[in-house]
Amino acid sequence: MEVYLDLKAGIRGSIRVGEMLGAHTTWRVGGPADYFVEPAVIEDLQFVLRFTAERGLPLTVMGNGSNLLVSDAGLRGVVVRMGSGMDRVVLDGNVILAQGGVRLSRLLRTAWESGLGGLEFMAGIPASLGGAVVMNAGANGLCMGDRVEEVTMVDRSGTVQRRSAGELGFRYRWSNIQAGKEIVTAVALRCFPKDRDEIGREIERFLNRRRETQPLEQPSAGCVFKNPPGDSAGRLIEAAGGKGLRVGGAEVSYKHANFVLNTGGATARDIMELIRQVRQLVGDKFGIELGLEVNLMGDF
Ligand SMILES: Cc1cc2nc3c(=O)[nH]c(=O)nc-3n(C[C@H](O)[C@H](O)[C@H](O)COP(=O)(O)OP(=O)(O)OC[C@H]3O[C@@H](n4cnc5c(N)ncnc54)[C@H](O)[C@@H]3O)c2cc1C
Repeated sequence: MEVYLDLKAGIRGSIRVGEMLGAHTTWRVGGPADYFVEPAVIEDLQFVLRFTAERGLPLTVMGNGSNLLVSDAGLRGVVVRMGSGMDRVVLDGNVILAQGGVRLSRLLRTAWESGLGGLEFMAGIPASLGGAVVMNAGANGLCMGDRVEEVTMVDRSGTVQRRSAGELGFRYRWSNIQAGKEIVTAVALRCFPKDRDEIGREIERFLNRRRETQPLEQPSAGCVFKNPPGDSAGRLIEAAGGKGLRVGGAEVSYKHANFVLNTGGATARDIMELIRQVRQLVGDKFGIELGLEVNLMGDF
């Protein structure tokens, strides 16, 4: 109660106790957060960072929850969700400046409306901007690192830092923000003038390709495993006979073998066990150990 009251008094954003995280992950699984904070201003983040450090409370940051497997027991301490409280977008010539909580779909719409090209590749990635930068999300031959000019973030001591793309070590599904655990508050993305109709056609083409190749009707976290060098995790899982494998309500998709679906009532434990079985299958058949693309949060 005291923690709740002190947090509430210190921030402008919202705070909830025992919020079920399954409501904030695309897999629709995840137990309660002790304290769930949605910041409204950067000072909220600085307050929470100081507060959790002083009281020795764990701190977890999430964006749109589209790459997370959160345990059924939930998360202790404070969970900060970068969402609608921090989703402002402004244009500066060909550069789009946006806060970390903005959804990529909105960013893409702004770019399209303004006749700015370069972001079409991200069509259909259900991420927040901060989460996409941290993960260096990508598709269609491009990734966030190709467009990021500068990132503003708050480090774990509450200090605001600005880093250029070159300092962030972008590579396949990696930026060194993953190691430093800073919180991304704003990003500058370099775009270029482009015909609006052409942008629209490209977005539609990318979305159609997703609909054809990905099982988008049921909850998932996109690709579960990273592609090993020179190969595709989906191909390996399919070739090992993994399609359709099930544990409880979790199932390896028939449409795209690197997707694990929540077909209804799956728990994080079901999904974790299925991940273990798929890894074993591919390991036994090909001697390749698949690395996880999804982030595990909490106890498993
Ligand atoms: C249907 C579907 C399709 C997908 N397609 C693709 C695809 O084509 N390409 C691709 O790369 N990914 C894809 N993904 C995966 C996912 O969208 C990306 O990994 C994305 O980058 C996750 O962003 P998020 O905001 O949901 O972050 P979350 O899942 O909430 O968090 C991911 C990680 O980022 C951290 N994080 C989040 N926000 C911040 C922040 N502001 N500051 C610091 N750390 C932060 C979290 O702590 C966590 O470690 C797909 C997922 C789904 C469900």
